[in-house]
Amino acid sequence: MALRQIRIMGDEKLEKVCRPVKEMTPKLKQLVQDMLDTMYDANGVGLAAPQVGILKRIVVIDITEEQNDPLVLINPVILEQSGEQTGQEGCLSLPGQAGIVTRPNHVKVKALDENMQEFELEAEELLARAICHECDHLEGIMYVRYVEGELFEVTAEEAQETEGE
Ligand code: ZN
Repeated sequence: MALRQIRIMGDEKLEKVCRPVKEMTPKLKQLVQDMLDTMYDANGVGLAAPQVGILKRIVVIDITEEQNDPLVLINPVILEQSGEQTGQEGCLSLPGQAGIVTRPNHVKVKALDENMQEFELEAEELLARAICHECDHLEGIMYVRYVEGELFEVTAEEAQETEGE
């Protein structure tokens, strides 16, 4: 297991548009594994490559409490979005804080898996929120841009439930 250092808001890597992945390499496979390890270690539900300093369009997500259903999205594109959900959102790159953000309640996304096979996925609620949050990272966007009202501090326990999207 290899953990990578998570970049904190203010780091310039979090403000850049990431490049598409053209081919899977052993190095990138290792990156994907490290991202999953890092996300699980931090009790997050999602992590984007720029959060570990790599400007590539790679996202990992796992919204299960058991942390046993990893989703890898390479070059993700949100094809459709509908509905609305308003709720608390946090980010591993801004530990200890959260804010209220409105997102689509349903998204349809197209991406490549870790074997560069294309797939489509429809997601709702928390998974839809996580996909939107992580895809924003690939554009250099932090969720704080969309926060309604002020950011607020969350305790470690509260943060575990929402942090790391
Ligand atoms: Zn984030």
